[in-house]
Amino acid sequence: MKVVVHVVGARPNFIKAAPLIKLMNNDHFQNILVHTGQHFDYNMSQQFFEELNIPKPDFNLGVSGGSHSEQTADIMIECEKVFLEQSPDLVIVYGDVNSSVAAALVAKKMHLKVAHIEAGLRSFDRSMPEEINRIITDSISDIHFVTCRDALVNLKNEGIKAENCYFVGNTMIDSLVEFYEKFDKSSVLQKLSLTEKEYALITLHRPSNVDDKNELLQLMEGVVKVSELLKCVFVMHPRTKNNLCKFGLYERYEKLDSLKIIEPLGYIDFMCLQKKSKLVITDSGGVQEESSFFHVPCLTVRDNTERPITIKKGTNTLIGSNYKDICNDVRNMNYNINSDIELWDGKSSERIVEILKTKII
Ligand code: UDP
Repeated sequence: MKVVVHVVGARPNFIKAAPLIKLMNNDHFQNILVHTGQHFDYNMSQQFFEELNIPKPDFNLGVSGGSHSEQTADIMIECEKVFLEQSPDLVIVYGDVNSSVAAALVAKKMHLKVAHIEAGLRSFDRSMPEEINRIITDSISDIHFVTCRDALVNLKNEGIKAENCYFVGNTMIDSLVEFYEKFDKSSVLQKLSLTEKEYALITLHRPSNVDDKNELLQLMEGVVKVSELLKCVFVMHPRTKNNLCKFGLYERYEKLDSLKIIEPLGYIDFMCLQKKSKLVITDSGGVQEESSFFHVPCLTVRDNTERPITIKKGTNTLIGSNYKDICNDVRNMNYNINSDIELWDGKSSERIVEILKTKII
């Protein structure tokens, strides 16, 4: 049996790891699951373990909060103890969060083999903390599993050998495909008194959009204008809510009838809400991808995206963070897009397992 440590810490990690962990639960691999604790609220963590049938973590490192450096350092210290104890044949890290880069750094310093799921994505914007995490994680990982062909080009341009890169598709979409039939059974629309395709779904949480008072105010005013055109549901990340409260703005928006602000949802309810929305306004990486899969038009409030495939083939349009007239962007959206993205077919984890088994360990 080959011992494989999976390191997860944040909401998007859980969704990306769930299908792979399940498939690797066989007589070739022994899975060890490490939850760093980066996300810890029930509705940002435990709920995903329950809904996606992820086994209970073998180790919970309990690292949360703090600055980027404190968090990364604490995760490194705790990961080292686990890796020393378990001597894994492979460490798998997911996406672009602090847990991913911290675990990869520790593993490589201990001469362990590291695989990065969702390697090669680049926004080419080094002011994004996630971009730094991506570049460092890829530069030291041994095996790179990529979701799209442009990621292969990015890795090649950074000197990473082609023989260590595998275009396998998107494990986040594997979860979506696996649970697809459950989305229609959710009662979230009834609970929110909404009907299909009459509302916009909004999620915004990137530091560049929500950490500065003026940026956030401008963004919220844009959202209010959209809510005068069509109903809006803002599924609010804790970071955004905390900042609105800190800036004394939360009450102003909470009171509006046209804009429903709700707490983060579990996976099934959120995906139902996304699938049945008329359009999505977001700055989330995962939501750009999922909305493309659902063929729901998506406006991304960023100047760049590390997921250009969602623009070329999917439903995504970048409107930049300094958009002039968001209502105009909503009116001019292309609502007739129905192309699919290569290998986003629900079988990426199967391809990863096959490669790991036959070529890696
Ligand atoms: N998500 C969810 N409930 C929510 C908001 C998001 O289940 O209330 C899921 C959704 O599948 C999304 C994923 O969490 O794609 C990633 O979340 P987030 O936007 O926080 O992270 P990012 O992809 O931007 O790193």
